[in-house]
Amino acid sequence: MLQMLMSRRCRHVMRVLQSYLDGEVDAHTADVVAAHLEECRRCGLEAATYEAIKVAIASRIEAGRVPVDPATLHRLHAFVASLEDDGRAPGS
Ligand SMILES: [Zn+2]
Repeated sequence: MLQMLMSRRCRHVMRVLQSYLDGEVDAHTADVVAAHLEECRRCGLEAATYEAIKVAIASRIEAGRVPVDPATLHRLHAFVASLEDDGRAPGS
């Protein structure tokens, strides 16, 4: 049901978001994604959360600790999804 609220542009951005944050997309795609993140709160939140996760993982590695395991990443992503649900306006 949530999917129906997302535009085609949102779905495209979601698909390339991780590659975009890793700097692995071409210049045109990067422009499209950057512009969309400016105007779309939902995708902007998603991008900010991925960035925060990346920073958290990088700081753990720099501190000489073991990287975050996939199960932890999965929990983080579930947490992001719950944040998005909370961010939606109540049906009042
Ligand atoms: Zn969007």
